[in-house]
Amino acid sequence: MSRAYIGLGSNMGDPVSNLERALKMIDDMEGIRITAVSGLYETEPVGYEDQAWFHNCVAQVETVLAPEELLHTLQELENELGRVRNIRWGPRVIDLDILLYDRLNINTEQLVIPHPRMAERAFVMVPLAEIAPEAEFPDGRTAAQVREVLDNIKKFVCINRKLW
Ligand code: ATP
Ligand code: MG
Ligand code: MG
Repeated sequence: MSRAYIGLGSNMGDPVSNLERALKMIDDMEGIRITAVSGLYETEPVGYEDQAWFHNCVAQVETVLAPEELLHTLQELENELGRVRNIRWGPRVIDLDILLYDRLNINTEQLVIPHPRMAERAFVMVPLAEIAPEAEFPDGRTAAQVREVLDNIKKFVCINRKLW
């Protein structure tokens, strides 16, 4: 059994219900069980700014799926929830990214773990450090340490609503 962290984001349709549906679908998948979910955060778009704010959360899972199997499962869920791929970093119904998987380093064409941009992203590190401050990167840094040095926690709102 492995432990992984998944970053969820949405800024189209009804983002909160998209996150809730995605969490339920992940937990219903054979071989994946959600063990913790962060609070709900509303965050400024990064990379392509001419779009609605995002709603984000992070889920901790236990899984028997190998990293590539987990990626394919999450991509199928993205498609099922109606994700269409067009503008890079543009609006989306749902984005499901694998952040960490045990303390593995993976670097293939399809899959990079730890997620290559997670350490600079407040919308990932704040919810991750909330549920798993001791979660370790392969180099031994903890989520709390990486979050501590982030200097871009500007426009960032934690919404008082339970997702899970
Ligand atoms: P970003 O990766 O910067 O958050 P994004 O999530 O919008 O951008 P996507 O369009 O969802 O990017 O995914 C593009 C590709 O990223 C996917 O086809 C997938 O193969 C690849 N990828 C690499 N590493 C990961 C990972 N750790 N989790 C999810 N997808 C990954
Ligand atoms: Mg992403
Ligand atoms: Mg993605």
